[in-house]
Amino acid sequence: MRRSRYVIAVPGPEGEYLFVNTFTGAMVIGTEDTLKILEGETDFCDEEMREDLVSAGFLTELTPKEETEAAFKKLESIRPVFKEHTLFVFILTYECNMRCDYCFQSYVFGRDEHWLQQKMTVNHVDAAFEAMERLNPDQQNPVHLFGGEPLIYHNYDLVQYILEKGTSLGKSFVIVTNGLEADKFIPLFEENNIISLQITVDGIQKIHDERKKRLNGTGSFQRIIKSVDRLAEAGIVVYLKTAIDHSTVRSLPAFMEFIADKGWIDNKYVIPFATPVRHHTEGGCYNFMATLQEEDLDFLFENEATYETFWRGLYPLAQKLGFMDNWFPQISYCRHNPSQTWFDPFGDIYLCTDSLGDKEHAVGTYYPELTFNEQYYQWRKRTTFDMKSCHHCRFAMICGGGCGHHTYHNKGGILKSDCSFSKQVEKIYYPLLWKMFRKVKITGPQLHTKW
Ligand code: SF4
Ligand code: SF4
Repeated sequence: MRRSRYVIAVPGPEGEYLFVNTFTGAMVIGTEDTLKILEGETDFCDEEMREDLVSAGFLTELTPKEETEAAFKKLESIRPVFKEHTLFVFILTYECNMRCDYCFQSYVFGRDEHWLQQKMTVNHVDAAFEAMERLNPDQQNPVHLFGGEPLIYHNYDLVQYILEKGTSLGKSFVIVTNGLEADKFIPLFEENNIISLQITVDGIQKIHDERKKRLNGTGSFQRIIKSVDRLAEAGIVVYLKTAIDHSTVRSLPAFMEFIADKGWIDNKYVIPFATPVRHHTEGGCYNFMATLQEEDLDFLFENEATYETFWRGLYPLAQKLGFMDNWFPQISYCRHNPSQTWFDPFGDIYLCTDSLGDKEHAVGTYYPELTFNEQYYQWRKRTTFDMKSCHHCRFAMICGGGCGHHTYHNKGGILKSDCSFSKQVEKIYYPLLWKMFRKVKITGPQLHTKW
């Protein structure tokens, strides 16, 4: 028996270790003795414990080569789990009625007005719904509305058409909006199947207004807060996102006080979460350290007012790293890339948030007809099945090859790997999430395989 190649040992406080099997998803908290057992340095191990460690994949009789082969064979057997086209997003327009310092789409704002003001037509919307039907008629996930800004009041008729048509087809919606004019759409939300809105407020007014300005350069804080108030009063769920970075993180407790005064803690309709600004970086959408430093994590963790909000913001990471029960091995880095289908106002389809509006990255069209180009087929190959350099990696099933958008621009192609996420995993993310689990007293890591 030897230690599985997929086991990561994360040192913790007081001689404890978190052991993770990145292939089975099993986790166990142990000690130096457990480490010795796994390393074969001691035979101190009762039979029951040995059986547990074997069944959870921590000990194996296979050679590393055999183990990799067995892992990929098993992964192959669940391939249908990794479905394509499960998330559909409508980019109504790239136009936005705000300008935020860190907007990941700021590269499109320099384009001419005519381009920016292009919006989906009725024909685009009809074609997008038809494409959804052809690509995945069974998908039940809410359709996302996105931009630019999807809820600009002068696009009311377009929003109405999308919501009414979607609702008549049995669809539900999530809307990612800056919130500035969102309350003006409440009558539409009340008549259609809206699951939630996501609105960003970046902290106390001074911080928010410095970073998130209206087109005329004035701050947007008061207007957005008013919008959230009205939405909550109307019984519409708002996920209130606070995008933090090293320069703002220490003001988060003051913002949490503001949230508490508003009655938005433990509120059914307003759910705050804090998440780091992170786009166009080496680690792409999972680089939670793009704009934070380790001391910021300690601050967020140690502050009673902030850790729960921060914890909510870490859910995607916790999910990716196997802290949730409904975990599956990852075959690609960011969802399964072809699972995301973004319809833009020019009739193009994209797969990656960091590339929206950048025609070079369009993977096909949905209007005037549904087509996919060579890039799409390349993205489909961007999985650990096809990326041979990732095959023998112990992080393969939690990493999935890294950010393809980054490798396209910096490493010579979509199919290159980028290991920057996995370098952060052992040192930062597992220790942090393990600490968070203890603090929020959620059921801790379990010694059982998750799939
Ligand atoms: S990108 Fe690097 S860390 Fe990620 S699976 Fe591939 S080889 Fe491993
Ligand atoms: S490839 Fe994935 S991780 Fe990278 S920017 Fe695009 S969506 Fe994000």
